[in-house]
Amino acid sequence: MSWCDIGVNFIDSRLEVEPVIARSLEAEVNQIIITGTSVNVSKAAIDLAQSSPKHLFSTVGVHPHHASEFNAQTQNTLRKLAVSSQVVAIGECGLDYNRNFSTPAEQIYAFEQQLELACELKLPVFLHERDAFDEQLNLLKKYQNQLMGGVAHCFTGTIEQMQAYLDLGLFIGITGWVCDPKRGEALRAAVKALPIERLLLETDAPYLRPKGLANNRKVDKGNNEPAYLPYIAEHVANIMQLDLLTVRNASMNNSQMLFALPSNEAKNA
Ligand SMILES: [Zn+2]
Repeated sequence: MSWCDIGVNFIDSRLEVEPVIARSLEAEVNQIIITGTSVNVSKAAIDLAQSSPKHLFSTVGVHPHHASEFNAQTQNTLRKLAVSSQVVAIGECGLDYNRNFSTPAEQIYAFEQQLELACELKLPVFLHERDAFDEQLNLLKKYQNQLMGGVAHCFTGTIEQMQAYLDLGLFIGITGWVCDPKRGEALRAAVKALPIERLLLETDAPYLRPKGLANNRKVDKGNNEPAYLPYIAEHVANIMQLDLLTVRNASMNNSQMLFALPSNEAKNA
């Protein structure tokens, strides 16, 4: 049994592909889902995933920051990209009213187009939300009956918000936020209440380098990377008062179920 990192921003010059993959395999993180955040990033993510089809998978989607780029053709472009066997989800998509790099109207349009596509293609959604929880939840409820599930990626909210996502049947993506003693308090309270059958783990590398890591900065140049997923899992196991193996098996099973990833046995060939 190994680990699956469900969210890595690999199309980023800060992550040097070969050494980063080598170090993740050493840490037994041998399934990685690359996050698509725009049409171009999604294309690059699929190309990269195809270069290592046993280990790498990808989402295709448009992040709310890029929603202003979402035009009348974009849904169809994503539909064509999603044909690749490496594509396991639609997103990351959702609403981010924190900085409004795209207007709320543009974000809602892009999000609904991607929710529709996920329903049509029977793929899970990879969700991003910041400062827009109520509106995000309302849109998810609108598509709830046709959606094939999904994950609230990089969840940092409250127990009540988590419960609302759980009620929709969603999984909860936990990052290295839990390792930050200053910021992660509400999140740790939520994680304590999270049913393990809904737990997914992600680094969101190269962002969100977990606090308290041994100093590997010569190797990782200060970035986060998938090799640090087990470190995040140790914190999650502590909070949930479970042993690491239980967290590892559950999060792996959950990842394989939601994203229909091949099982590890098949992948050793
Ligand atoms: Zn995100």
